Amino acid sequence: MENFSCDGFVIREQYTGEADRIITVLTKDYGVIRAFAKGARRPKSKLYSGTAFLVYSHFVFFEKNDVYRVTEATVLNVFPNLEKELDRIAVVNHFCELIMELISHHQESSEALRLLLNTVYFLNKGVNAWYLKPLFQLRILSLTGFTPNIIACNNCGTFETETMYFDIEGGTLYCSECAKHGRACSVDLINTIRDIVIPTLEKAYQYKVSAENIGELNQLCDDYLTACTERKYKTLDFLRSL
Ligand SMILES: [Zn+2]
Repeated sequence: MENFSCDGFVIREQYTGEADRIITVLTKDYGVIRAFAKGARRPKSKLYSGTAFLVYSHFVFFEKNDVYRVTEATVLNVFPNLEKELDRIAVVNHFCELIMELISHHQESSEALRLLLNTVYFLNKGVNAWYLKPLFQLRILSLTGFTPNIIACNNCGTFETETMYFDIEGGTLYCSECAKHGRACSVDLINTIRDIVIPTLEKAYQYKVSAENIGELNQLCDDYLTACTERKYKTLDFLRSL
């Protein structure tokens, strides 16, 4: 039996009982935690605001035999504009599904939490959802062992040719001389991916993408994500239907 506190972002909220919530939270030190919040759906409950979906809160959890209860939840930050646009809420749902897929319980997750909070902050401020989505996908994959090897041709080390070939399954890049398979991409698109993956997170949010490449960038990242994790995502199917 133990009480402990940590900050975390609510990535899922499920209803149970008459007025209870089961929440899933991404925390810095303990990875993804699933916890019961008794009475939290009652507006007068002290847990009401801090355990809501897409809220960043300071939590106190009570843990016994790996079962968690929320005993305190103090709101640190809210993102009220996320639900105002369909593509914003659809993309943030996708981010939450990716966190649940890629981050485990008890996994140190400070970088993943920083990525999620920053991306949600920009989304809430009105930055385009289709601009932030590939950034989040590539950065969360890179944090969890799926960094694409896009610095140079995997065979000969050539930095760029006008057309380059990205092998989705292997996450590797080939120049036009060495390409035997892989998806043909303009060097502009490859440079965009480099600008997302290679620099610090702060710099990555300044990446440039041309209007004609943004659709292809999104498609490539969706396909790379699906290949890396070998599964389909409901939230991605929904995004594609928009
Ligand atoms: Zn080559």
